[in-house]
Amino acid sequence: MRDVYAELVRTGPGAVAARKLGLPRPAVLRRHEAGAPLLDGPALLLTTGSGASAFRTREAGGALASLLARAGAEVHLDLPDVPAQARLGAVVVDATGATRVGDLAALGLALGPAVRRLGPSARVLLVGRTPAHLDGVDRVEAAAVQQGLEGIVRTVGKELRAGATADLLRLAPGAGPADLDGPLRFFASARSAFVDGQVVDIAPAPSVRPSSWGAAQDDDDARRGAERPLDGSVAVVTGAARGIGRATAHVLARQGAHVVAVDVPAASGDLARTANDVRGQALALDVTAPDAPSRLVEHLQRALGGSATGRLVVVHNAGITRDRLLVNLDAARWEAVLGVNLAAPLRLTDALLDAGLLGQGARVVGVSSTSGLAGNRGQANYAASKAGVAGMVRALAPRLAEVGATANAVAPGFIETEMTARIPPLLRQLGRRTASLQQGGLPVDVAETVAWLAEPASAGVTGQVVRVCGQALVGA
Ligand code: NAD
Repeated sequence: MRDVYAELVRTGPGAVAARKLGLPRPAVLRRHEAGAPLLDGPALLLTTGSGASAFRTREAGGALASLLARAGAEVHLDLPDVPAQARLGAVVVDATGATRVGDLAALGLALGPAVRRLGPSARVLLVGRTPAHLDGVDRVEAAAVQQGLEGIVRTVGKELRAGATADLLRLAPGAGPADLDGPLRFFASARSAFVDGQVVDIAPAPSVRPSSWGAAQDDDDARRGAERPLDGSVAVVTGAARGIGRATAHVLARQGAHVVAVDVPAASGDLARTANDVRGQALALDVTAPDAPSRLVEHLQRALGGSATGRLVVVHNAGITRDRLLVNLDAARWEAVLGVNLAAPLRLTDALLDAGLLGQGARVVGVSSTSGLAGNRGQANYAASKAGVAGMVRALAPRLAEVGATANAVAPGFIETEMTARIPPLLRQLGRRTASLQQGGLPVDVAETVAWLAEPASAGVTGQVVRVCGQALVGA
């Protein structure tokens, strides 16, 4: 669906009028392009905090600096070293040593001048620690300070303009540079265009690199490997005939996965188109059918043979809405929405687990919704199902950890699809403009986040619910 307002205010006269009237002027977001550099400008790496950093950023070859450099960024450790005309592509702040209240002000004061130098679609990334797991005598103050980082990130996200975003990556005890590598690349890159104001926890994981990184000794190898991290994976995407599911099939295939595209028989035409486009397979299947779990398992075992046993990625994307105020919600509307959005992902995941298909490196990705997390008028059934998806992945995470697999969810906000095209025009405008990025996202934005969670380098990210919402006001 076209965003006519955004198109208008991007024209010369439209921009002037919007500026005069103080109206939102949504930026054109930088999105993934093959071969494009990680950042559109140099990165500034700041270190802050009176406690010990998890990285040695000041020394040449400090872990965080070298992670960024290996990902292709030009890294500076001091703002005066940044060439005078350059706009920063990213500011990364190592705040793992922030333990005292004063460290928050110091961080803010150091960040301010850097924020002024940010270019369009730049990134502000804070790296901290998970507050609940801190130890030591000053644990309570340190936890408060680490939680305080969340307030800075969410506020900066709301203040940034021109498509720039702010996010916080938190290391759990034992998590190190290898665990941060994949998340840092994603959050720094254009692939995270619509992920804004988010906090993601990273646990230590036996670091599994993409197969093509295996013997990578040099940066070029690593970069090439990072381009197709899903080589050798099989990805099942439900609801793949259109919208977010279709985009997800495309991005997973671009990243190297063999895609099994699933949708209802009535959508077979569009489903075949998706499967053909990504050189994958189409499986016409209603995910709520009693035999859906067994048919999916059989399909994976028969059609894919041994190749499905290694790394399976399952994206529970199929979803429906049947909106009414709670007082008018009948049993059929409750059952239909809970059946597709929650019961089916639970049953399919159980069957895949029982069949031993979710093994080492496997990924389960649920598709939740900001409406689900925050509640939304007229959507008690949908919100129950989508908050349920968040609960599902949180409970699955420890179970899957036993076999070296992960479970996470994405929670899209307002995404331009046929689902949101049905929203009344005024509400549609509100949905778009009240996000920090002042626009709706595109299906590809959700797809990129799903594909990142599916990567081997995301092994330390589990039990997380990542909003892809441009920092929507709803539930933010
Ligand atoms: P969409 O309606 O465009 O596509 C959904 C797809 O799921 C369709 O192809 C449909 O045929 C398929 N599907 C429905 N029931 C099915 C079933 N029983 N078995 C198999 N396939 C089935 O929706 P979308 O906007 O692309 O949304 C995709 C997912 O993202 C949904 O789970 C939705 O709840 C979620 N989501 C969307 C938005 C948004 O703004 N569009 C926001 C938050 C969450």
